Amino acid sequence: NNALARRMRRVRPSPTAAISDQVRELEARGKTVINLGEGELDFATPDNISYAGIQAIVHHQTKYTAVAGTAELKAAIAHKFARDNQLHYTPGQIIAGSGAKQLIFNAFLATVDAGQSVIIPAPYWVSYPDMVALAEGEPVIVPCDETHGWKLQPEQLAQAITPATRWVVLNSPGNPSGAVYRADELCALADVLRQHPQVLILADDIYEPLRYDDTPFATFAQVAPDLADRTLTVNGVSKSHAMTGWRLGYAAGPQWLINAMQVLQSQSTSNPSTISQAAAVAALTQPDSFFHVWREKLNTRRQQVLDTLAAIDGISAQPPEGAFYIFANCQGLIGRVTPEGNRLESDSDVAAWLLATAHVAVLHGSAFGTPGYLRIAYAVEDNLLHSACQRLLAACESLS
Ligand code: PLP
Repeated sequence: NNALARRMRRVRPSPTAAISDQVRELEARGKTVINLGEGELDFATPDNISYAGIQAIVHHQTKYTAVAGTAELKAAIAHKFARDNQLHYTPGQIIAGSGAKQLIFNAFLATVDAGQSVIIPAPYWVSYPDMVALAEGEPVIVPCDETHGWKLQPEQLAQAITPATRWVVLNSPGNPSGAVYRADELCALADVLRQHPQVLILADDIYEPLRYDDTPFATFAQVAPDLADRTLTVNGVSKSHAMTGWRLGYAAGPQWLINAMQVLQSQSTSNPSTISQAAAVAALTQPDSFFHVWREKLNTRRQQVLDTLAAIDGISAQPPEGAFYIFANCQGLIGRVTPEGNRLESDSDVAAWLLATAHVAVLHGSAFGTPGYLRIAYAVEDNLLHSACQRLLAACESLS
């Protein structure tokens, strides 16, 4: 369409949204679809948090706030970073926005010039490359290896950096891989980055508490305090507190960068919802006793899906350490033939076929830059997940 700006040629609609559309279409035709494609917890936002939002409404805290968030929210964010990550930020080094997504977008927009590049390890969260493209930068995809737990290796990083590199993205726990970087692995990456002062580091920790072993969490700014002036740590309440719809994320980093992100925000969306800010204060400061119950449930579901996949000839999966996704190798299904006589030629064929016949929605790995895999989100109610597993098993057994 000629009416659209040129930049629209560089951005694709989110594949997650595309799957959700197909799910709705099947449902409209009376099918019961089980959606394992969604990137959110099925749990309700904890009541004390919702109540804080309701209280904000009742007390007429419903007006504009400071662009980067209320003083109270910034204090709660500073408290969270000090408590969980031993990171100490001043209010001027903190910004809240309408989701981590907006903050990452603003960070790229504020720093990436045409022709500059951003290193994105694959598999990656679908939005990073498109955000970089919208900022007129070049996404540089570095394929990571399952045998290295899908984690960027220092040699790979060293090789990918050029004078035009502006950022490297480190997402831990990772979407879609569930990979969690250990402190020593981050230190090794920091050693490389010390040689390249032009490179900024984005630590996307949005899935931080969703981990299934007791290894303490490490984030880049913590292991490399000497690189603090070029590290942006992004987090939010979407995944940690089942608050995706509240649209509240936050970031902390050097003041020059936070200021620039704030300028962009002041001319685009302004402050995140005042009501959501009040709820986020509760989320970040009140006890999170609900969380161990969630983690237990998610761990059981994770195991259930892993057991199902282990029983399927043609699919294999390593236990992911975090988030709520399993990134399963489906290469053994490619080349197989469906009962209708169609050959599955790719991971997207497999995903499309599973949706059409088993009415189970999963995402194809190519959407995350890694063909031959499927992303299965298991943050789904127990009985639904159970049926989904049975459907997947039966469907795959019908292939010849
Ligand atoms: N980062 C990663 C890796 C994600 O998976 C998501 C959501 O899917 C986000 C950031 C954005 O989260 P939100 O904008 O809801 O805070």
